Amino acid sequence: MRTINKSVFIKSLDCQRLAWHLYRNLIEKDNSLGDDFLIFESKKIHALAQQLFPKGVKVNSGSLQEALAKTKELISDKNIETIFEPVFEYNGFVARADILCRTEEGWHIVEIKSGNKGKRKYIVDMAYSALIISKNLEPVSKVKLLLLSKDFHLGDPIENLFAETDFSIEVFIKMHEYFLILDDVKKMIESETSPEAKLKLCCKNCRMFKQCTGKNIEYHIFDLPRLSHLEFDELCKININQIKDIPNEIELTESQKIVKESIINDKVFISPNLTAELEKIQFPVYYLDFESVMTIYPLYANIHPHTQIVTQYSLHKSDNLNTEPEHFEFIADHTKDDRKTLAEQLIKDIGDTGSIITYSSFERQILNHLAQSYPELSESLNKIIERIVDLEVIIKFSYYDKNFHGKTSIKKVLPVMIPDMNYSELEISEGGSASSAFAYMAMGMYDQEKIIQTKKHLLDYCRQDTLALVKMHRFLAKTVQ
Ligand code: SF4
Repeated sequence: MRTINKSVFIKSLDCQRLAWHLYRNLIEKDNSLGDDFLIFESKKIHALAQQLFPKGVKVNSGSLQEALAKTKELISDKNIETIFEPVFEYNGFVARADILCRTEEGWHIVEIKSGNKGKRKYIVDMAYSALIISKNLEPVSKVKLLLLSKDFHLGDPIENLFAETDFSIEVFIKMHEYFLILDDVKKMIESETSPEAKLKLCCKNCRMFKQCTGKNIEYHIFDLPRLSHLEFDELCKININQIKDIPNEIELTESQKIVKESIINDKVFISPNLTAELEKIQFPVYYLDFESVMTIYPLYANIHPHTQIVTQYSLHKSDNLNTEPEHFEFIADHTKDDRKTLAEQLIKDIGDTGSIITYSSFERQILNHLAQSYPELSESLNKIIERIVDLEVIIKFSYYDKNFHGKTSIKKVLPVMIPDMNYSELEISEGGSASSAFAYMAMGMYDQEKIIQTKKHLLDYCRQDTLALVKMHRFLAKTVQ
């Protein structure tokens, strides 16, 4: 029996074509270490929430049919007050609740989420589950959300980890809306032919974009920086989906004009200000990159959920634009919160003079947090902050190659500026995986051999980032010679 799950239903609200493909497993998934870690952490948070209900019984699912049968059995046993992960089916739609509680006034559905803010968007999730469950059980009297409390520290009792909010009214209203469209969604999903592609703003981040509304379009209007809803609607109204076709009467921002002109003239944009910006950089130049770890459940004592902990840095130092740069690096002791040692070592390595090139505002933010956390180091850290030059800002305003496709992230810009330099040969090649690898070590999940190997891969990855900065700086300097 093929069933429609929550994810397919919710996608159908944004794009029916995407939901139709998702239902048939026609969309490739990326399974990075970062994605696996998110699933791992979510399971951990669910297990911790279950500890709040000591009498709960879990539906240990095998197949869908087994999970449905087990749920029925537990529901009919009046001695069971709380059921974990029960599964329900209605008219081909399937939903799994996180926690279901039997109370005198009716059933309470409890949804667990790992965020820590008042998340209205979770109402959509809860409304779907509540709808399918309410077609099986009567009455569903409350729908509640357990979110992580921002006040929790590692070491506090587990009851303090969650904050509960009752969203019953909002969920019941939305649930009614969903009931009215359920049959139409089913008909569309089960139809033999896929719904037509129609360009909308959410296509920009869709995994199918390149085979769907973005097919065979080299410079799509989505390459326009900060394309607003209004601008997008205006362009769609006159059937424009390629930058080269945008009529002159359409008003664009300065950065959008740069993108359009570099495509139409097939020419790299170099601002007359680029030379002056580069001349402000003082030697010796340091190129700095941090990596950090951010877990839902804190890794170390006295840390809140979702706290960003800096774990390593790479630092290249150049006395001029021609000679081999010197390299410094640091990686934290994963068994403890090692931020202070990292800050002290950085202060020694980074000297007192010369510009510090970073890419994005992330390094500045980390240094600000370190200065706040360790007031005894704040004077030195604030002096470091004063020396920062953000290369991304220089590129954003002074250099544009149409092959950046409207982005300025280092992963997009580097292969265009320095084609022989990429991350494909590295074991760890993106920030999410770096953070997850460090978290696995801190959680004691790797043996000694794997720890040595992982630290080496992390250092290689971070070094590549600062080496990229050295090369990009030299590339820009050559451009204006
Ligand atoms: S690219 Fe757009 S139309 Fe195509 S599946 Fe994705 S969201 Fe839907």
